[in-house]
Amino acid sequence: TSPLTHDSAIVIVGGAGTIGSSTALHLCRRGYKNITLLDVYGFPSDYVTYGPSQSAGAGDINKHIGTSYSGTRGEISDMTMDMWRNDPVFKDYYHEVGELTAASLPEHIADLRKSYKAKLNHPNKSEEIKWLGDREEIIAHCPHLANGLVDGWQGIWTEKAGWGAANDAVDSVGRELRNFGVKMIFGQPGTFGRPLIDEATTRCVGVITKDGEKHYADRVVMATGAWSPSLIDLAGQCVSKCWIVAHLEVSEEEARRYKSIPVVYNGEVGFCFEPRFIRHHEPGKDRWIIKLCDEFPGYTRFMETTPFGAEEPIKVSVPRSHSAHPTDTVPEEGMRRLRRVVEVMLPEFTEREFVKSYMCWCTDTADAEWLFCQHPSHPGLYLATGDSGHSFVTLPSAGSQVVDLLEGKASAERMRRWGWRPGRGDPEGTGRGGVAPKDLSDLDGWAHGDDERAE
Ligand code: FAD
Repeated sequence: TSPLTHDSAIVIVGGAGTIGSSTALHLCRRGYKNITLLDVYGFPSDYVTYGPSQSAGAGDINKHIGTSYSGTRGEISDMTMDMWRNDPVFKDYYHEVGELTAASLPEHIADLRKSYKAKLNHPNKSEEIKWLGDREEIIAHCPHLANGLVDGWQGIWTEKAGWGAANDAVDSVGRELRNFGVKMIFGQPGTFGRPLIDEATTRCVGVITKDGEKHYADRVVMATGAWSPSLIDLAGQCVSKCWIVAHLEVSEEEARRYKSIPVVYNGEVGFCFEPRFIRHHEPGKDRWIIKLCDEFPGYTRFMETTPFGAEEPIKVSVPRSHSAHPTDTVPEEGMRRLRRVVEVMLPEFTEREFVKSYMCWCTDTADAEWLFCQHPSHPGLYLATGDSGHSFVTLPSAGSQVVDLLEGKASAERMRRWGWRPGRGDPEGTGRGGVAPKDLSDLDGWAHGDDERAE
């Protein structure tokens, strides 16, 4: 490929998502001047134009933020947390309310105990990590759980963790990118069609979008999250799965009582956050929302499709977003799990209906490490995906790693770890351990109209 210079044309597909926007930010900060973002949706404040989006992993009201301990995310955790606390683009969107990670089944408590010991000896150890050994200790740190079903719970208390206002933080990155003069093309004109390949050299020289427009580039970065394996044949290295998110509306008085509660995570049940005030673009629709998620092996949606690079249709788990299909419901068993999260963690609201529920998609690699590499057959085409469900926290820092890769500065060890690794894929979707995920097609209650096809 031609050498990378500050004037090289760089197209980021999925540029309004977590890894894509982070990559653009780090490119700008390192002096690159010719950057174009393509995305189906824009940044959250563009949603008024493009319709509310729950497509992007980042299009969400809050995400857990805290020190990471494993893989590349662990190695860059100091930079990540420093940027959440101090970088002007991020610092207003991080809420350090603390976090409880708990379990009640003996085998899960034993696993957490092991993880606690490993964290104590880890160089990233937060001074504030504590083991909470019984109900009293749990309630001393999370008083709102006093009426919760927490008998037998034990777990890890982390003082220096909390949540990020995901959509606002990504929006802040978007504003910064506009200040840098980054070109942004959203909606159908920003929707990826296929890469432009120079037949003589097999080099990627740009992208054709769905509207037929050609966008020539020296480097193309595919940061398309859970959509990546259905757009480019990734040889089974990433499997996209969804989890379910629900919103519970609370009154201002209730919000006051739950203000600054820690993030509570129990892998047997799910997790929830303190209430967030959500401004709506329509007058009178502002509201306080508690977000909660279920925890389970995720659902796949396998179907035959032909991503770029596949010679014939192959089986890929293809996301189906709520924003493109707003009348989609969620599987009945998922709804039961979400009600259980409320019963266990927020019993005051056991009878309250959710105001929203939808599925949120990630793409898992077998080892939960990123797939950040150049495409093996098409120089100039870079993959920046494989988020494995833990990458929002790296919004400030993930892009630095992608830019290191583009600049040839990534260490040999990181290139090996993130590299194209066929044969180490996760075709059955079991990368997180435990049982294989169910497929959405086998589940009841998931009303999805007639247009059951790849997006
Ligand atoms: P995204 O942020 O999803 O970005 C992909 C972008 O590609 C989107 O903007 C999308 O619109 C765009 N795109 C897709 N198709 C096309 C196309 N054809 N053309 C152009 N653009 C396209 N992580 C945490 O760190 N903490 C958490 O608490 C947490 N909680 C989670 C809870 C749930 C329920 C889920 C599902 C995920 C959670 N995650 C969390 C994971 C986190 O959201 C993801 O790891 C992260 O957002 C993935 O970033 P990404 O850039 O790969 O994808």
